[in-house]
Amino acid sequence: MKRTKSFDNSHFVLYLIATPIGNLSEISERALTTIKEMDIIAAEDTRNTGFLLNRYGFSKELFSLREHNENEASSYLISLIKNGKKVAYVSDAGYPGISDPGYLLVKNALKEDIAVSTISGPSAFINALVASGLETNHFYFHGFLPAKDSEAKEELEFLKDKRETLIFYESPHRIHRMLENLFEILGDRNAVIARELTKLNEEYIRGALSELVAINEQELKGEMVVMVEGNKQEETISDQFLIDKVNNLVNKGLSKKDAIDIVSDHFMVNKNRIKKLVL
Ligand code: SAM
Repeated sequence: MKRTKSFDNSHFVLYLIATPIGNLSEISERALTTIKEMDIIAAEDTRNTGFLLNRYGFSKELFSLREHNENEASSYLISLIKNGKKVAYVSDAGYPGISDPGYLLVKNALKEDIAVSTISGPSAFINALVASGLETNHFYFHGFLPAKDSEAKEELEFLKDKRETLIFYESPHRIHRMLENLFEILGDRNAVIARELTKLNEEYIRGALSELVAINEQELKGEMVVMVEGNKQEETISDQFLIDKVNNLVNKGLSKKDAIDIVSDHFMVNKNRIKKLVL
């Protein structure tokens, strides 16, 4: 077990700063203060980040950390941090590590006992989900499906029994094919396309997959998050499975009532159905 505190100077700290996903004014005062304090800002795209920093009048040393150099670049950044330099990482938009580089940097930093701290901001999938009207208590973020159709369909086969709201990222040139694949594998479920979030053309398109797939491709431009209702067919979860889950919790010391509540909430199954099975 390892514990790190972000604010007591007991560790060197790597900062991860979330940046705007479209509307450039969506950057917090804390993000700006942190940027100001840094010696080096590592970025997925130094040109993009340069524009953002310029807007706020910062002139900082920038260092490029992208998907294909993440390992070597993170070793260099870690050596800087251990030599007392203040370093933050930003990806092109939203949070580093969310369908963007950042994970290896964090993993390598933690191995070297460097604390990692996040400066909050927007992320496309959180913005999209909370306004989607689909269930927000339980969701599954998948990010991008593979570009190859056969592989995308194979992944969807694994996801089709999930009861949580499913969340995907997609680029405009593949959106139509993706919607066709979603419709084919998941069936005609309710879904939402959240397009151009925080920008002037922000749009939510809510409907059944059969309706979304019929939209003219030309209308689906820009950046998009696609969300699909989870599998609502309760019969995909067997009676025996539910009984076993309740019994497991009861054996661990929970009351039957609490165990039923937890299993019902976790697997999104009607409480009365579980009660009938175990009481
Ligand atoms: N790190 C980012 C985050 O935290 O959301 C995600 C970066 S990922 C490379 C880019 C994808 O995120 C886009 O293809 C799109 O699916 C989604 N995205 C980013 N900005 C968006 C926006 N303003 N509106 C809708 N989707 C967006």
